[in-house]
Amino acid sequence: MEELRARGYSGRITLVGAEERPPYDRPPLSKKVLTDGVDPSLRADFAALDVDFRPGETAVGLAAPQSALVTNHDKYSFDRLVLAMGATPIALPGPGPQRFLRTLDDALALRALFRPGLRLAVVGAGWIGAELATAASTAGCLVTVVEAAPAPLVAALGAEAGSHTAPWYQRAGVELRTGTAVEAVQEGGLTLAGGAWLPAEEVVTAIGVRPAVRWLADSGVTLDNGVAVDPGLRTSLPGVYAAGDCAAFESVRFGKRLRVEHWDTALHAPEVVAANILGGSEVYDPVPYFWSEQFGRMLQYAGHHTAADRFIWRGDPQADSWTACWLSTGGRLTGVLTVNRPRDLVQGRRVIAAAAEVDITRLPDPAVQLKDCALPGDGPSRLTGSLVGSQRQVWRSAPRPTGSPFSGRVCDGEIRT
Ligand SMILES: Cc1cc2nc3c(=O)[nH]c(=O)nc-3n(C[C@H](O)[C@H](O)[C@H](O)COP(=O)(O)OP(=O)(O)OC[C@H]3O[C@@H](n4cnc5c(N)ncnc54)[C@H](O)[C@@H]3O)c2cc1C
Repeated sequence: MEELRARGYSGRITLVGAEERPPYDRPPLSKKVLTDGVDPSLRADFAALDVDFRPGETAVGLAAPQSALVTNHDKYSFDRLVLAMGATPIALPGPGPQRFLRTLDDALALRALFRPGLRLAVVGAGWIGAELATAASTAGCLVTVVEAAPAPLVAALGAEAGSHTAPWYQRAGVELRTGTAVEAVQEGGLTLAGGAWLPAEEVVTAIGVRPAVRWLADSGVTLDNGVAVDPGLRTSLPGVYAAGDCAAFESVRFGKRLRVEHWDTALHAPEVVAANILGGSEVYDPVPYFWSEQFGRMLQYAGHHTAADRFIWRGDPQADSWTACWLSTGGRLTGVLTVNRPRDLVQGRRVIAAAAEVDITRLPDPAVQLKDCALPGDGPSRLTGSLVGSQRQVWRSAPRPTGSPFSGRVCDGEIRT
């Protein structure tokens, strides 16, 4: 919405959102909201933006001939529609109560529960599980993290990099049980695969999310692990766009469809949507970026690697600051994970953006700047060309954005011209 207004759009905009609250940032939910109770609200001035905001209203379908949005309260005709429903947490089987951490209400409820001695089971040692365990152990809870994979963060990073985060749990007083699948959530604890019992006063399930697209099943919008969009973030229906966690976009850079569940994508993809709604032909094809704060460390990742990519350490992974790199078979950097090494992240993102091959004899040496590992021929000019945008994004991404009400984000919304 803000991006449309900033680009001169003066038509009507309606924003429909299932939550009763005005928009807020989610990254603080598992961090400062839990630890310090900070308010993550975005300063949304709907009157100044001339936006008709409809909180507590859920989209349930598109009416034929697909130019009206049907909600649980109303029906809106539109000329352009932006789908940005995000994602919803996956639940575990079982009759017992389980909590999630997706919304501000979830976070506030968890914060109110935290107390020294609370026996808390967190299922899933992914990004959210690790951050939740960090906050809960800081509050004095007795935290057990149960993870089916052999190490934390395996889905995102693979076992080799993920396993080097495991000692952080122990040092923080958190019990980490890897290779342990949960069979069911019960009253008072968890039944583990094989029948073992883990008692817990509270259970938080953090095993991943699914794009919130079920309501679009018969809408004519093509779904493929989310809303399938082209590089300009257009769906299969004319005039309908999608962005953020719910959108799977065609990445020319990585040669596949990507659905990126990270804040940087939710921040920047709407810029492309707004430009294209207004007649542009922009493409969204970033080097994906995210960060995570766990057990006193800042983790940052840029790129998109596959399990087949070659893995190389920079620095000592037993230490408190290191970098993990992934390389394609052609020797190009495809992904970089940094722990307390922000310079490597910035330089790595540039090298990935430039599709540069790297010198693997120099890459493992943390004393050599990562940008200096890019082989000549792939070219300093290519690196320089991609520098400005990516660096700005990287440094803007760690803290929350400041200044503008929505920071360029379009949430669930309908636009009528
Ligand atoms: C606890 C937590 C911590 C995170 N930390 C980080 C981090 O450190 N770094 C990082 O890069 N990313 C992080 N993320 C991810 C980041 O917050 C998300 O990628 C981002 O919020 C996605 O934005 P979005 O607008 O696509 O979706 P959302 O923020 O999920 O917003 C979608 C909105 O649509 C509403 N909605 C859904 N369906 C409907 C419907 N049918 N009708 C109407 N409204 C609907 C939802 O209620 C929701 O309000 C975190 C996420 C969470 C939950």
